Amino acid sequence: MNKVLEVNDLHVSFDTYAGEVKAVRGVSFDLNEGEILAIVGESGSGKSVTAQTIMKLNPMPPTRIVSGEILLGDIDIVKASEREMMAIRGNEVSMIFQDPMTCLNPTMQVGKQLTEAIRHHKKLSKDEAYREAIRLLNIVRIPNSKQRVLQYPHEFSGGMRQRVMIAMALSCEPKLLIADEPTTALDVTIQAQIMELLMEIRENTNTSIIIITHDLGVVASIADRVAVMYGGKIVESGSSEDIFYHPSHPYTKALLESLPKTDMDKNKRLASIAGTPPDLLNPPAGCPFAGRCKYTMKICIPHMPPDFEPGKKHKAACWLLHKDCPDPEPASAIGG
Ligand code: SF4
Ligand code: MG
Repeated sequence: MNKVLEVNDLHVSFDTYAGEVKAVRGVSFDLNEGEILAIVGESGSGKSVTAQTIMKLNPMPPTRIVSGEILLGDIDIVKASEREMMAIRGNEVSMIFQDPMTCLNPTMQVGKQLTEAIRHHKKLSKDEAYREAIRLLNIVRIPNSKQRVLQYPHEFSGGMRQRVMIAMALSCEPKLLIADEPTTALDVTIQAQIMELLMEIRENTNTSIIIITHDLGVVASIADRVAVMYGGKIVESGSSEDIFYHPSHPYTKALLESLPKTDMDKNKRLASIAGTPPDLLNPPAGCPFAGRCKYTMKICIPHMPPDFEPGKKHKAACWLLHKDCPDPEPASAIGG
């Protein structure tokens, strides 16, 4: 399989009055053609910053890529000029966001916006681009596309607007589509439909997709691979099967425990993870999860756990996986 993206030891910081906030601290992952990767984590884990850095969309400054590589084919995005980035954005890589309204022009018919986006990337006449717009609306399963092109964004529901955004993102036939919390503002049924649509797009076009989400449940049926971020780091990564059925990191386990098991549970109070994420202005020297983990050991606080490999292509950064680690039962743990 062809590798579409390779991120190596990426560090990204924000310079603030209080000092340097180390938002992304040594993130590495790769993505093959036609693969769907979910990057999951709480807010402040560094997942969105990672995604925006791939597009170089972070406001710079105060955001600063400290070190690392982001290889998209032969190009290292870290070193790419703004001019090169303009060619990459929307040609090779497209992005969709949580709130489509921020990207759609409320005063312009949807078809016109799509046609303009298409003509920006392809040398097509107005008529050809218009036909292409209708074709894209069909691909994202917007019914009555011929009438819908004449409507304005406010005439679309939230889910339909997100479909328009996906059509817009597909207009340049990107190699990589990044979706940052694409369904967070939508209700559960619509969420599932949008995920299904992304899967269909992958099947039909072989586009690689990164989905950024705080909700592990949303990506359960769609992701091939999952990377769990915490405190600016990927603490566990593996196939969906590894993460959902054989999680190794206590944080991943806690995230899974906090998911509703059935639709009934959604009304109940879910188990939440006690405590707060680490302060990335003064990131801990050791495991970022040590303050909230129920297995915290002496070694966890001063020493950062390396990546252990509980399985093939399955990585987790937790001292419990060290071969000499004692049995992690509460008697030997101080977190209780
Ligand atoms: Fe981190 Fe230690 Fe808990 Fe593992 S056991 S998650 S290394 S605090
Ligand atoms: Mg975010």
